[in-house]
Amino acid sequence: MPENRIAIVGGGIGGLTLAIALQQRGIAVDVYEQADILDEVGAGVALWSNATRLLHRLGLAAQLAEYGSEPTELIFRSGLSADRIVSYPLTEGGWYRQQFGAPYYGIHRQALQRILAEAVQPGTIHLGHRLARLERTGPTTLLHFDNGATVEADLVVGADGIWSKIRTWMTDGLDHTMYSRTSGFRGVVPIESCSLLPDPTATQFWLGADKHFLHFPIGPDYRYATFLAAVEGPTVWPNPRGVRIPCTTEDAVEAFRGWHPAVLQMIEAVDHTDRWALFGLGPLPSWVRDNVVLLGDAAHGLVPHHGQGANQCVEDAVVLADLLAGDGPETLAERLEAYCRIRMDRAQRVQKISWVSNRLFHLPDGPEIPLRDATLGNLYQNVRWIHEYDAQAPHTELELAASTSDR
Ligand SMILES: Cc1cc2nc3c(=O)[nH]c(=O)nc-3n(C[C@H](O)[C@H](O)[C@H](O)COP(=O)(O)OP(=O)(O)OC[C@H]3O[C@@H](n4cnc5c(N)ncnc54)[C@H](O)[C@@H]3O)c2cc1C
Repeated sequence: MPENRIAIVGGGIGGLTLAIALQQRGIAVDVYEQADILDEVGAGVALWSNATRLLHRLGLAAQLAEYGSEPTELIFRSGLSADRIVSYPLTEGGWYRQQFGAPYYGIHRQALQRILAEAVQPGTIHLGHRLARLERTGPTTLLHFDNGATVEADLVVGADGIWSKIRTWMTDGLDHTMYSRTSGFRGVVPIESCSLLPDPTATQFWLGADKHFLHFPIGPDYRYATFLAAVEGPTVWPNPRGVRIPCTTEDAVEAFRGWHPAVLQMIEAVDHTDRWALFGLGPLPSWVRDNVVLLGDAAHGLVPHHGQGANQCVEDAVVLADLLAGDGPETLAERLEAYCRIRMDRAQRVQKISWVSNRLFHLPDGPEIPLRDATLGNLYQNVRWIHEYDAQAPHTELELAASTSDR
């Protein structure tokens, strides 16, 4: 395939992973990021085997091991009593790695973004470039940035997150974002301030009516715990311009009043200033228009209850890079079509299951609780297809073959 000028819009986890993967395959690329400094907002992120096996192949195993923590157990508890509902040993006997062939890490978002940014070639990332609009000019696309710069590209990748300007262009302004009617309080806490917390090196879901509390360790050395305290409501998100509204620590504590002291201790350890809306995306009919393609949250933003959004970005990035670099279909259009064929179904399945988990985690005491507990007891059978997946395994070649022969 002739050399294309590739512009990635968005220097988040998806955009940076794609840049690394393309450069390692000898393909030149530029990343345009609106922020003036790379500084991921938020707390920690869980990276599961379906992403870590790919990041390892990109040469990042040592960095992930240095800055990540491997949660020792996955525990579901009652939010009120702390009684264990179900638990899985993760590190004992190397269970998770053995099951799924790669580790599960908790890592701080900023650490992950730094690891990724350091792995791209110098001069790749253009900060302070906020995309204002796209313009089709024959076979190429012009990117116009707020800072006055204009860039011409043969392929544009929209890795610009759930509020993607590129998706809005692709859908002619149709809005696919969906407010989940749930919101959350987030934080990172030094583990020594969690004196009441049982099993501080575990990933734990504390469940109760209309809310749940998730925390997991982030590294190095289990030094911190990151948490999301998720609650139903408000029914209508009051800020049409963003995912955050101001709040106080008292608001966060009040939302979990009566819950186990370990949960309240963690919530109180943080000075809360923001309450975060949890948004997902409705399924898109396509991720491609002309020579513009979507990746990551821009394509399949999802509520975070399986901790898979960033993991799906990594899968997208590696599949797209392999298709652009490999001996696949002849034309760019065919390669982009193959990317959609391989990625859309899987990402949309993960989107759907994440919505279901929200409901499961927030069930009140009542007749559905035994079914909830049985479902959690089968968790790893139910989600095996997510964790064991290898986005570069031969079966994706089969999907690719299907995508070329179907036309
Ligand atoms: C509370 C919460 C917890 C989560 N926990 C997990 C987890 O444990 N594990 C997991 O896998 N996922 C998790 N996720 C999801 C995960 O954070 C996202 O799926 C992931 O960050 C998406 O990456 P991305 O690169 O697609 O988009 P983003 O990370 O949103 O990056 C998009 C980038 O594009 C830039 N950008 C946007 N617009 C423009 C523009 N016009 N011009 C230029 N640049 C632009 C932005 O500044 C940003 O840097 C969680 C999400 C939430 C809300």
